Amino acid sequence: MTLFDKFTALQEARQSLAEFGLTSVNVVMEKVISPTEAIVNGRSTILAGTNNYLGLTFNEECVAAACQALKTEGTGTTGSRAANGTYSAHVGLENDLADFFNCSSVIVFSTGYVANLGMISTLAGKGDVILIDADCHASIYDGCLLSGADIIRFRHNDAADLDKRLRRLGDRAASALVIVEGMYSMLGDRAPLAEITDVKKRYGAFLLVDEAHSLGVLGANGRGLVEEEGVEKDVDFIVGTFSKSLGAIGGYCASNHPELDIIRFANRPYVFTASPSPSIIASTRTALATLRRHPELKDRLWNNAHRLYERLEALGFKLSPEPSPIVAIRLENKEEAIRKWCALLENGVYVNLVLPPASPDGGSLLRCSMSAGHTPEQVDAIVDAFAGLPH
Ligand code: PMP
Repeated sequence: MTLFDKFTALQEARQSLAEFGLTSVNVVMEKVISPTEAIVNGRSTILAGTNNYLGLTFNEECVAAACQALKTEGTGTTGSRAANGTYSAHVGLENDLADFFNCSSVIVFSTGYVANLGMISTLAGKGDVILIDADCHASIYDGCLLSGADIIRFRHNDAADLDKRLRRLGDRAASALVIVEGMYSMLGDRAPLAEITDVKKRYGAFLLVDEAHSLGVLGANGRGLVEEEGVEKDVDFIVGTFSKSLGAIGGYCASNHPELDIIRFANRPYVFTASPSPSIIASTRTALATLRRHPELKDRLWNNAHRLYERLEALGFKLSPEPSPIVAIRLENKEEAIRKWCALLENGVYVNLVLPPASPDGGSLLRCSMSAGHTPEQVDAIVDAFAGLPH
């Protein structure tokens, strides 16, 4: 028995994938042309698996702001804010986000993963209870593990199951932390937030909502499902990422609890990692301003999402439950998913291949994510590639 034996099963699984030809990990974008197009295997390829919801990665103002910050502030911060100092732009971004979310405090983290890891493991500790939706992202699970708290999973999107589990906790329910996502990353379905906030309020518990996939995508002003459902005042913590609709990298937590500022300094994943580089902060601030100034980007995204969903549905594909910028095609088995994924790539369309155990219900998915940057012609080309798939 060696340290490496535990990787044998993974190695075998990857080898079995390689027998089908390409694997998703082998996909190299040889040249990225735009938010929605790259050269892959020497072929022009439509990118339909990026999370680039607003298509801002090549936005001229964002690129210019990043270049300017590179020139004036350098390539990196070389350390954490707690140990090595805060740049004024870090505070500037936190203020921008506080203004956007209309809340008192925001912490910016180095990634969305670190934001979840940091917030969850700092808020809850040994003796506390965290209740998470079963379909929550790996970063939420990892944050729970790091916290040392008791972890209870409730059935996906089932507020009655959450209610039952909180009831069983008795007095402990009043300090429990409930965690859900706004829009779930694999199937694009949304949390029943009105019901969940109702339950949470009845027990006096705390609620953290991960809006990684809903910032800029849901809500009249792009503030996510929390805004769309009108429950902003009932949500204690909103966590999100800069790596999707804002086209950069980084994460945040927004809250009206005054304690957020002190939580920052108890937050090991915040304190012990380097802060985001100046160019990232600059492009993120500009992307946030662009999101606020250009609501038509969200409309374009949704038009593309509806177009793809409706056309794939008309072709008879079994799809994720509701139209959303995440459109997942459910397939019978792993082999079929891999075969179809390879055929799509050979026909110039890149989507995400999701195999068990990464998929929520143990099935296999071809996951598409739409962008405001897709043209209607590109959406139709994606549909045509699906229509041409061998059975
Ligand atoms: N939460 C959810 C729901 C996500 O889907 C992701 C990324 N896929 C993250 C958090 C982590 O975000 P980041 O890429 O910024 O680390």
